[in-house]
Amino acid sequence: MTPVTTFANKTVALFGLGGSGLVTALALKAGGAHVVACDDNPAKMAEAAAKGIETGDLRQADWARFSALILSPGVPLTHPEPHWSAKLAKAAGIEIIGDIELFCRERAKLAPAAPFIAITGTNGKSTTTALIAHILREAGHDVQMGGNIGTAILSLEPPSDKRIHVIECSSFQIDLAPSLAPSIGVLLNISPDHLDRHGTMENYAAIKERLVARADRAVIGADDEMSRAIIADMGHVNKPVVRVGLDDREAGSVYAVGVEIFANFTGSPRLVAALEGVGSLRGDHNAQNAAAAVAVTLLSGVDENVIQTAIRSFPGLPHRMEEVDRLGRTLFINDSKATNADSTEKALKSFDNILWILGGKPKEGGITTLKPYFPKIKKAYLIGAAADEFAATLGPSVPHVMSGTLEKAMDQAAHDAAAMGTDAVVLLSPACASYDQFPNYEVRGDRFRDLVRALPGINPTMGA
Ligand code: ADP
Repeated sequence: MTPVTTFANKTVALFGLGGSGLVTALALKAGGAHVVACDDNPAKMAEAAAKGIETGDLRQADWARFSALILSPGVPLTHPEPHWSAKLAKAAGIEIIGDIELFCRERAKLAPAAPFIAITGTNGKSTTTALIAHILREAGHDVQMGGNIGTAILSLEPPSDKRIHVIECSSFQIDLAPSLAPSIGVLLNISPDHLDRHGTMENYAAIKERLVARADRAVIGADDEMSRAIIADMGHVNKPVVRVGLDDREAGSVYAVGVEIFANFTGSPRLVAALEGVGSLRGDHNAQNAAAAVAVTLLSGVDENVIQTAIRSFPGLPHRMEEVDRLGRTLFINDSKATNADSTEKALKSFDNILWILGGKPKEGGITTLKPYFPKIKKAYLIGAAADEFAATLGPSVPHVMSGTLEKAMDQAAHDAAAMGTDAVVLLSPACASYDQFPNYEVRGDRFRDLVRALPGINPTMGA
């Protein structure tokens, strides 16, 4: 844990005890602060109280006691409208910050030069964060990985000059971290997302820009217009930037050509890594993520041979085009994280001869944008609430069946794959949220994985 000492002997209000909230309260307490925590969920309040945190209804509190409001990133700070706790904090004239900010202040106090790599972007954050951490670990570094990827930042070991923190940051977290100034800041890409919580696209991009603008060195994706505008802004203030992606190959870039990643820092490009045969990094989108990871690890002084070897052993993240297992000539892929058509497109692009399990709670627009990939589909297995709508989009040219449940779909797909006798991919890439049939996409993906492992003929020790 990283005890937060910058509020020692002060009293702070904390709202939101899910996710990182409880860890944050405990880290503040460990550093000598007095915390009054609150959550809409009484079970979370009880859990915090059992751990020695004072809990109470902050609506009734005397806000003159508080030095700050520590807000969970899941709670609206500005849009669609500020949460009541944010309004009360503003009225009391106190700052509103999050756990990343507390970490940054601790770093500034303990070890201001401690390596701190922060990663943001609309897509690919977790994959890039995990890949950077993996390469740095393989290079022998003491690596602490966390943030939006799932491990609360304050549950990690404290910053030190000999330890590298690799932290995924959502835009909500950046918004609550005014002094975020990493040693390397990574911005992968920007496309419309979470506009309900950020108001406008300009505001969303401006929040993401803050992470790289205050970094010592910046690594920025050059494949979309808004990120390119940010690269131009960095040029105006002479911020050193490495541009990454697929298109920009000029000096100062790390880029992918197919499955090969080249670094061109000085005007003479050289091949650093090849993704050929790396099942955890299929597709152009992962080539962009890998280019960013190569840029960051080169800037961190990792040897090129170590980078290449580490990339080959990257296990990937669960639920993102995750290779579960192989049975005969059939590959089983869990892409449960693909909860919209854009994400599913990445998977359909990456495979052929697809037995596609899809459906769930539909999103606006459905799967109409995926029509160009329909010739790759051998058969579709429809589940959940979206089944009728998707059946209509698939139409008579794409063989499909109303499976209803994931269990039934798996049974049918595995049977059909075995009967095909050719290379085939059974792909769960639902293009839908999971909430009609599962608590979340992780449970849906875990269920898929269990079903694959239970198939007759799967070696139970493989891929475990
Ligand atoms: P995030 O943490 O930003 O949500 P992940 O690494 O978890 O990103 O990937 C989630 C999904 O986003 C993937 O399954 C894939 O469909 C898509 N994706 C990943 N990387 C990229 C990228 N660089 N560009 C566009 N889409 C991507």
